[in-house]
Amino acid sequence: MFYFDPLYWVLLIPAILLSLYASLKVKTTFSKYSRVSTSSGMSGAQAARRILDMFGASEVRIEAISGRLSDNYDPRSKTLNLSEDVYGDSSLAAVGVAAHEAGHALQHAKGYAPLALRSGLVPIASIGSNLAPMLIILGFFMRGLGGLSSLMIQAGIVLFSAAVAFTLITLPVEFNASNRAMSLLTTSGVITSEEYKPVRKVLNAAAMTYVAAALAAIMQLIYYIMLSDRRR
Ligand SMILES: [Zn+2]
Repeated sequence: MFYFDPLYWVLLIPAILLSLYASLKVKTTFSKYSRVSTSSGMSGAQAARRILDMFGASEVRIEAISGRLSDNYDPRSKTLNLSEDVYGDSSLAAVGVAAHEAGHALQHAKGYAPLALRSGLVPIASIGSNLAPMLIILGFFMRGLGGLSSLMIQAGIVLFSAAVAFTLITLPVEFNASNRAMSLLTTSGVITSEEYKPVRKVLNAAAMTYVAAALAAIMQLIYYIMLSDRRR
């Protein structure tokens, strides 16, 4: 029902456009620097291994997984999962992504607080982003119930706030992982100072997708709040 409300689109369109731009930018930047080899000749997996061993996370395992840009670090099993394009490829894009994920593993190893906070928010944020819109819609349809319907809308807004908090705490976690990646790559000798800028571009493009997601979540929350005000 939100999709028929012009206010929804007025609020969400900038975030949707930014998100489209960001994902396009990630694809083009990644594919551009996938064609440029590192002068060290190291692959994504080798770069990550060197970084993890040098900076105190040698217990972290590295595995190849399928999919494109599906790279991630799993803190429960202490595994760095690198996509096929990253694992065995010795391009600037591959070592950049691999070092970013190694950055997450090091955040975990060093007890970086925002990462723990983000992991703690995962269950409530995923419930919030799925259940909140349903609660709010239901609250509107059950107008006749008075108090109960406004309680449902308020509960939806509170739950959705958890999802917004998750997207916001994701920002420092992601920026920090990329900053770590850049300094780890240079100090470990995986890339040279001339290779710094292109790798940074790949990681900046990826960071923009998280900014777009946070913006979309904030605008959606604002929309829900305006809707509940309008109803009163
Ligand atoms: Zn990340």
